[in-house]
Parts: sequence; C-alpha cells; structure tokens
Amino acid sequence: MRKLKMLYEGKAKKVFETDSPDLLIVEYKDDATAFDGKKKGTIANKGVVNNRMTNILMQLLEKEGIPTHYVKEISDRETVVKKVSIIPLEVIVRNIAAGSFSKRFGVEEGTPLKQPSLEYSYKNDTLGDPMINDYHILALGLATKDELGTVSEYAFKINDILKSHFLKLNIQLVDFKLEFGKTTDGDIVLADEISPDTCRFWDVSTGEKLDKDRFRRDLGGESEAYREVFRRLTGQSL
Ligand code: ADP
Ligand code: UDP
Repeated sequence: MRKLKMLYEGKAKKVFETDSPDLLIVEYKDDATAFDGKKKGTIANKGVVNNRMTNILMQLLEKEGIPTHYVKEISDRETVVKKVSIIPLEVIVRNIAAGSFSKRFGVEEGTPLKQPSLEYSYKNDTLGDPMINDYHILALGLATKDELGTVSEYAFKINDILKSHFLKLNIQLVDFKLEFGKTTDGDIVLADEISPDTCRFWDVSTGEKLDKDRFRRDLGGESEAYREVFRRLTGQSL
C-alpha cells in the first residue's frame, strides 16, 4: 500500500489516495488548533497517540458489532482506512455537562446528566459548525431518516462500550465527537478518530483533565496528559 496524491490536509490529519480506489491512508500530525483555528500550536507525539489510540478503540468497537472504517495500522502515525463519503455532521454524545453544553444551558461543568445526550453540529467551517437538529438534517438532505436512525443507535452503543472501557482505566468519559461515513456499498460506518482531541477524559480520582481542554484552556502538560491516557489504555509508555 503506497501513499499517492494528498487529497486533503486538515487541521490534525492529512488524507492520501492509495493504489486502491476504495482505500485511503490517514496521517496524524502533532498540530493542534482550537476555537475555529484561531488558536494554533503543537502537542508533542499527539499524532502517534491519536493514531494508535483510534485504532485500538475502533478494533474494540468492531468486536462489539460497530462497523468502522479501520483497515490496518501501517506506522506510528499512518493508517489505512476505507474511503467513505463523510456525513457532514459532528455527532456529539455527553455523559457529564462540560464545554458548550454547560455554557448554553447554564449547567455547572461536572454535573452528571440524567441520561446520555446526543446532538449534531453541521460540519461547515464557513458557518462555524452550527448546532443542527434532525429536521434540519432531513430538510437539507444531509442524511436520510434511516441513516440518522443508524447513526444515533451506533452513537449511544459506542458510548456504552467506551464509557465502561475507560472507567476500568479510572477515566471518566465526559463527552466526545464522532463522524460517520457511507461506504461505496451504502453502509454507514464509524470514521475519523477517537482520541483526546475529540473526547473529554477526566481522571476519576483527581478530576484532572486528560484531553485537549489542557490546550484550549492553557493548562499546560497536554503532551503528558495524552501519553497518560495512552499508557492506561495500552500499558505502554511513549
Ligand atoms: P478537519 O477537516 O476538521 O481539519 P482533520 O485534520 O482530522 O479534520 O482531517 C481529516 C479529514 O478526513 C476530516 O475532514 C474527516 O471528515 C475526513 N475523514 C476521516 N475519515 C475518513 C474516511 N474514512 N474517508 C474519507 N474522509 C475521511
Ligand atoms: N469536539 C470535537 N470537535 C469539534 C467540537 C467538539 O472533537 O469541532 C468534541 C470536544 O472535544 C468535546 C465534545 O466534542 O469532547 C463536546 O464539545 P463541546 O460542544 O463542549 O465544544 P467545546 O467546548 O469544545 O467548544
């Protein structure tokens, strides 16, 4: 499998064509951005943590019956994935109030939610990824009713699997963002990444933040925090 033309360079990853039309190679960078790209920096070894962690979690989810785009890890920062047509939605699941949920609804960060919540943002940088509801999604034709049903069912199931997995590592899964895509066969699969860039992780005992909020909020120690989550997940130090 060879990297051919770069199709896309995003904020955190580069995406390459390969010699197979149905497969892509994703390369994870150390670049970090926040607040719609207004804050920029790098987090040492983030690309390695995010690549390897995403792949471990996608394989765990596959075993539990969630289809994903994962095919094969080919280096510390590179993975072969199925090429999908991304549904332009950020699918956000929450267990504990934090971030924009706390702000929007005036709920103190750390308040446990009575049940997990699900919301969508329209992936559109020019519009600033606005929140969008099911009716908007159907009206705009971003997904069909059946597809949205599958996406929400998978999202809650993924939450159950990941929440209990991280709890065993003394980590609370506060909230996270998922992306789904459609394969050439029309199947909905989990795509993109699952990492400290896209999840809020809090240490159960100390409440310490082990995710991108360390970068967003200038708390320092972001590289160490990412590596700590990786260490608990794999037993390996980076
Ligand atoms: P952003 O686009 O937000 O800057 P990234 O730097 O993570 O984000 O770029 C990766 C891009 O690749 C994202 O736009 C994501 O939707 C897309 N992507 C992820 N998985 C796949 C896949 N399997 N097939 C096609 N595109 C994908
Ligand atoms: N998130 C993400 N990408 C985004 C927006 C959010 O990965 O573009 C993740 C974020 O890391 C958090 C969850 O989605 O785990 C909920 O984020 P929130 O809506 O609270 O937004 P934020 O506070 O990051 O602005």
